[in-house]
Amino acid sequence: MQTVTLNNGAEMPILGFGVYQIPPENTEQAVSDALAAGYRLLDTAAAYGNEEAVGRAIRNSGVPREELFVTTKLWVQDAPAEDNTRRALETSLTKLGLDHVDLYLMHQPYGDVYGQWRAMEAAGQEGLARAIGVANFHPDRLLDLVLNNEVTPAVNQIETHPFFQRTTDQDLMREHGVQHQSWGGFAEGRNGLFTHPVLSEIGLAHGKSAAQAVLRWLIQRDIVTIPKSVDPGRMAQNFDVFDFELTDEQMAEIAALDAGTTLFFDHRDPEMVAWLSKRRLDG
Ligand code: NAP
Repeated sequence: MQTVTLNNGAEMPILGFGVYQIPPENTEQAVSDALAAGYRLLDTAAAYGNEEAVGRAIRNSGVPREELFVTTKLWVQDAPAEDNTRRALETSLTKLGLDHVDLYLMHQPYGDVYGQWRAMEAAGQEGLARAIGVANFHPDRLLDLVLNNEVTPAVNQIETHPFFQRTTDQDLMREHGVQHQSWGGFAEGRNGLFTHPVLSEIGLAHGKSAAQAVLRWLIQRDIVTIPKSVDPGRMAQNFDVFDFELTDEQMAEIAALDAGTTLFFDHRDPEMVAWLSKRRLDG
């Protein structure tokens, strides 16, 4: 598996498996199928409610722990967040049945961000997380965090797909050594992504699907991607993207699809800030 090297030297697979919106009762089977298909990077979150099922699938898989790269995410914590963050990480580790995660991400740029980050830095130093990072940080918030803290986030996981490409975000991340990771790489199928004429034609030129063309485009941009599927056939298809290469012309054709705006919601929209900031997880 092709990897990227994070700013602390850790190696991260460039392609993994996301489990957002997989109900807990289906997650163990999905993750077991994904591990059997060859995926080694797993992306979950406290807020997804399926960490325990991810942990069961890992234990039952027989895959050695050191071959896996497990990411989970901290939900928004109240100030002062140091103790709350530590407890939240311990809860996630218990649910996953692991003594450390490979990447711990701050899920949203809200709440006591600095308190959360300090606790994450401490968890990193203790080895509870091999790397720490953030998600959904726009360039202004990311730069503020980078400039005013000891540890630079290893990763920023942000909405990135052909209709919202984040090229200037990626430039800033590159400048500061923050790895770009895509969520919603297929835009969850919005804008007809799976049958989009440009993406389908590019896929077809390589004997591949539109979905595979999108994953290849992300990989060629050095973006870590974590497609979600509950279907073993689609899992295998999404993993089969290392035997072809998009040409410069094809990369440019996909670049032209960028509409430069979210297809989900804007993390800077005051209504969303209020809604997400108020949400708390139980246990
Ligand atoms: P996504 O990967 O863009 O799209 C998933 C959808 O695509 C599912 O409906 C899936 O259906 C379908 N699909 C998958 N492969 C396909 C294929 N080859 N052909 C046709 N359809 C296919 O959406 P996502 O789950 O939102 O994003 C991926 C991961 O990013 C998440 O699972 C999560 O780990 C992470 N994420 C993070 C955040 C954050 O705030 N940090 C937010 C959202 C997501 P089937 O399951 O039926 O195949």
